[in-house]
Amino acid sequence: MNYEAVIGLEIHAQLLTETKIFCGCSTRFGSEPNTQTCPVCIGMPGVLPVLNRRVVEFAIKTGLAMNCRISSYSRFARKNYFYPDLPKGYQISQYELPICEKGYIDITVDGTTRRVGITRIHMEEDAGKNIHEKDCSLVDLNRAGVPLLEIVTEPDIRSPQEASAFMKKLRAILRYLRVCDGNMEQGSLRCDANVSIRPEGSDELGTKTEIKNINSFRFVEKALDYEIKRQIRVIRDGGEIVQETRLWNSETGKTESMRSKEEAHDYRYFPEPDLVPLEIKREMVEEIKAALPELPDEKKARFVRDYKLPEYDAEILTEERSIAEWFEEAVRLGARPKEVSNWMLTEIMRYLNETGKEIEEIDLRPPQLVELLELIKGGTISRNIAKTILPEMISTGRPAEEIVREKGLVQISDTSELEALVDEILSKNQKEAQRYREGETKLLGFFVGQVMKATKGKANPKIVNEILRKKLS
Ligand code: ADP
Ligand code: ZN
Ligand code: MG
Repeated sequence: MNYEAVIGLEIHAQLLTETKIFCGCSTRFGSEPNTQTCPVCIGMPGVLPVLNRRVVEFAIKTGLAMNCRISSYSRFARKNYFYPDLPKGYQISQYELPICEKGYIDITVDGTTRRVGITRIHMEEDAGKNIHEKDCSLVDLNRAGVPLLEIVTEPDIRSPQEASAFMKKLRAILRYLRVCDGNMEQGSLRCDANVSIRPEGSDELGTKTEIKNINSFRFVEKALDYEIKRQIRVIRDGGEIVQETRLWNSETGKTESMRSKEEAHDYRYFPEPDLVPLEIKREMVEEIKAALPELPDEKKARFVRDYKLPEYDAEILTEERSIAEWFEEAVRLGARPKEVSNWMLTEIMRYLNETGKEIEEIDLRPPQLVELLELIKGGTISRNIAKTILPEMISTGRPAEEIVREKGLVQISDTSELEALVDEILSKNQKEAQRYREGETKLLGFFVGQVMKATKGKANPKIVNEILRKKLS
């Protein structure tokens, strides 16, 4: 019997607000432990939460971008559990009335587009961090009260590849909206994956397990892959899947049992008495909708349509909003779209990948790339020379013209100078010249190579070709 996988994801996204969800403390990452805390977020008795309006705006923005219904009436709920990193003894979350419901995201894997339903998006507060050392445990509450969105999908995903494509699309949307930085390593985007298997063709749901602790796209695929195979093995061996929470161990490449259903928490949710229900006016939703940026899918379609770019180029250029904007600025300055794309997809992206920098952090700005392209177009430098100086332009921000002058890289287009050089090369290579004249025309490349070597790549290749053809005919 063949089995198919059924997957649903629960994603936590930390919001890029300046301050926490229920107090004025900073959300900055990486500060000294317990320097960004106050009586509210450390859970002193008698304090009261005040909802951060920006969190609500970000939730609505995200919901709209993911095609959700925005509830005009929603409520916060208390989710009870006691850990030292949550000193109140409960987390303020949302339960039966979340702010967003019933949306979807479309994903494409191997050319097939599928729709993944979003069950709900709700707002909640993050917990702090417990740090366990050899002889003691420490608690850092800087993260306690940092706003989170929890995004829950329908069990619509059918393979590990689809799960990672979904995560990538979701991350791209969050980053386009500038509501979350999407940094999985630092934990600002976290994913729990629920997975079950069932006989192919069946439409019943099997017993699921939940995998926690997945902190990269690669691990999403690997953990699910492992877990699906494990479940199939259990069933084939005549066993049963136990509903449980499992942890992904990236060292061993395996999932390990963490707690079973019997040990599962009973959170005893109840309406949060310290916050009034949240009523959202239609005008607020309309205002946010009107200000939504163009999203990755629309942008990609427009790039293909308006700039006549191949799908592949458009896909890569629109993965990040800042890259797409950089591209469009260069085009606005008069450069040919495909030409800009070629340089961005090769030299510029390579530099970004190697240094781990964002495009807005590098000194090369669109006008400087356009200047470089002008130098090629005007015949001042060759394309190859341009390739050699671009890395320096990127790392130093110096204009192309300056580097070209300083290094004496101006292309040699002076016909009489090149003719003299060609004469010299032909007289030094008379045998090859003879063979060329007898029909071995592929030797043209050899002569071009000789000229380039003699001029350190600076000879204008078009003119060199013309002269060689003329003199060899
Ligand atoms: P729980 O009560 O265990 O949290 P939920 O019904 O809230 O379960 O679902 C949590 C996540 O698990 C959702 O993303 C949902 O799509 C997914 N899910 C639910 N049932 C299954 C199943 N049988 N197989 C795979 N995923 C599932
Ligand atoms: Zn605080
Ligand atoms: Mg649930």
